[in-house]
Order: sequence, then C-alpha cells, then structure tokens
Amino acid sequence: MVKGELVAVRVTGTSGQPHLSWAEGALLSVPHAWLRERGFLEDLDANGRCAVERALPALIPQEASRVRLWAAYTEKRPIPLRLRPWFRMVPTSLRNYTASRLGRWQRRRIRHWAMFPRWPLDLSADFFADLVTGESSPFSAGPTPVVLTHDIDTLEGLRNLQRWFLSLEESVAACSTSFIVPHRWPIDHGILMDVLDRGHEIGVHGFDHSNRTPFLSGEKQQSRLARASDLIERYEIRGYRSPSLLRTRSLMKSLGRFYEYDSSIPTAGGVFSVQGTGCGSARPFVIEGIAELPVTLPRDASLRFLGYNPTEILRIWKLCAEYISRSGGVIVVLTHCEARFSGNAPMFEAYRRFLDYVADSDHMTFSTPDEVLQKGLGLSERIEREERAQAVPRSGRREKELVAGAV
Ligand SMILES: [Zn+2]
Repeated sequence: MVKGELVAVRVTGTSGQPHLSWAEGALLSVPHAWLRERGFLEDLDANGRCAVERALPALIPQEASRVRLWAAYTEKRPIPLRLRPWFRMVPTSLRNYTASRLGRWQRRRIRHWAMFPRWPLDLSADFFADLVTGESSPFSAGPTPVVLTHDIDTLEGLRNLQRWFLSLEESVAACSTSFIVPHRWPIDHGILMDVLDRGHEIGVHGFDHSNRTPFLSGEKQQSRLARASDLIERYEIRGYRSPSLLRTRSLMKSLGRFYEYDSSIPTAGGVFSVQGTGCGSARPFVIEGIAELPVTLPRDASLRFLGYNPTEILRIWKLCAEYISRSGGVIVVLTHCEARFSGNAPMFEAYRRFLDYVADSDHMTFSTPDEVLQKGLGLSERIEREERAQAVPRSGRREKELVAGAV
C-alpha cells in the first residue's frame, strides 16, 4: 500500500473490459477504499495481481478525478528552495558537483520517493478514470497528439530557441510553445515576434522564477500574474507554466482569470521539485476552473539531474511515448533550451532523434495545446471554462487595476 490509502495493483487481464486493455501488465495505484467497497479486494492475489474480467459495479463518473488529485499539488515549499539563498553563496563548481552526486544517489533509491506517481511514468489516474466511467479516452481513436514545449529560463535559452530549436521543429512540420519568464531577464521582443511569426506559441513561465508565487496569498498571486498582462495581450498568450512545476490549489484558482490553460502539473514529477507528486494522468482535464495540460514525458532537467545520459533519455522518452499512446493519452514534452539542459550537442541530438521518431510514426502526430484541449475536454468542462472566462475577462482594465496592488 502507498501513501496510506492507495494499493499497488498489477493488472493481469481485462478481457471483460476491452477499453482497459491498454493497462494489461502495468503496475497501477488504486484507492484501497474503492477496492474494498466494490468487492475487488477479493480479486487480488497474494502478489497484488488482479484481472478485471467480471462486470464492473455501478459506474460513478464523478469519481474519475479521485486518483488524479491524490498528489497533484505541491502545497509545501520544497526544502531545497527554502535553502536557495544560502546555496547561492556556494561556488558554481561545488554546487554542480553536489547536485550531480545527489542526483546519482536519488537514482539508486527511486522506489523510496516514487511510490505514487511511479517514475518515470504512472497512468494510474487514467486507468481509474476508465474504470469508473466505463469509457475510453477521446484520444484512443486516431493518432496520439505530441505537444512540444520549452521552459525559457534565461535570455541564453531564448536565443538558443531561435537559433536551433525552431528550425529543427519546423523541419518536421511541428510547432512548439515556449514559456518565458516575464520579470527576470531583459526580454528580446524581436525574437518573440519572430517566434510568433513563424507559427509557434508563447506562454508565461511564472513571475521572476523565484518559486514564490504559488505560496503567496491569492491577492498577491493575482497582483503578480497581472504584471504579465501586457505580454499576454501583445503575444496572444493563452498558457501558463509554473517555474519548477510548483503549483498549489490557490495558484490554480488564481490562474483562470488570466489564462486559458495551465501546464504545470507533471504526470509523474520524479524527485524535483517536490518528491513523488504528479497527477498520474496523461490527458487534459479541468482543475479549479482552468484547463490543465499535464507534462506527460519525464522532463529533461529531472532526467539530467538523476544522471541519465542522452542515449538513455531518448530511450525513456520513446518507451513512455508508446505507453501514453496505447493508453489514449497526450504526449507533452518539456525541454529547456539552455546549454546546461537540452541546448548542448548530445542532448539536442537526442531531441532531434525523438522528433524524427514521432515524424516517422504512424500513430503519433504533432499537435498544439489548443487542438488537444478542444478535443480532450468534455463538453461540460468546456462550458464551465467558457462561463468562467466570460464572468472574469482575462485581459484589460481588471488586470491593470490589480497591478496597483501589493506584489
Ligand atoms: Zn524554469
């Protein structure tokens, strides 16, 4: 049992439920109480294996989010971030050495920090949703969408994006979304216009990348978010990604006023920035009134921190992409364009080969956040999102009024 109330189940058969067949052989986490209430505990053998072959009990679609929300938030500020001011005083070489040793140590103890969601990918929430709704994902039919995203933490990253990443993506007829930090480094508007003119999308990546916004009061969060209003209007920005993928329920509530979607919740967050968090889902959903596009592939920074080399990273990306495709999910890739992450020759080559792999695939296709959300959200979720957007206009005077508030 993990996290007190989730049980690890190995699905050995689903002949009575063909829409669950993608999960055969997978190790998944299911609420213990649900198994007990529905009489499924008797179906588990001593090794936790279970065949879903009998008729399911009454379907309860409203329970679909139960596993998804289990570890979706990072409500506590992570310890490394609390120590950051002190850590900044340490020389870079020593910092890098310490991070490298720490990462390799964490790689050896994955099962201690990744009970749920499991690393590098855990689709328990999607399995549970299919179980309680009796339905398949809207992405089960047709090619699996692949959404490319970049977190641009520095001006160096923005320049590398323009110099190398965009051309590569255009060579396979793909568009990417790049999330930029509004208040940390001088923004080169010439590059942003070029990114937009070439058909790519721009999003916002926090405020100043100090990882404070999610933990402020709702009022202060909105003041900070409002200070990106000019960027939002100028570059038709629709999406937000929180730095270090830190997200609280309060932040999610604040985002709906400014953005159409958020993409800050990983499917399986790994060791960073808070160990063992994520939504266990590779499908879009609505959370606190805003559409969520989870980051479904393990991201470059986490993989590099754990000491995986580019060849291993490419292999993990391909394996995860195939599993997501079988499950009816969406492949969302997060890379950083800085040299210390994916903006170096070996990692860029791994990224290039992954894009070629998708381009050559007959069951994956490049897509965009907008296309995915249009198809992936249920009608009721779209109506809820639109009603909220109409009730609270996303741009204009209201946001400018908020700028006057305390930051
Ligand atoms: Zn970042």
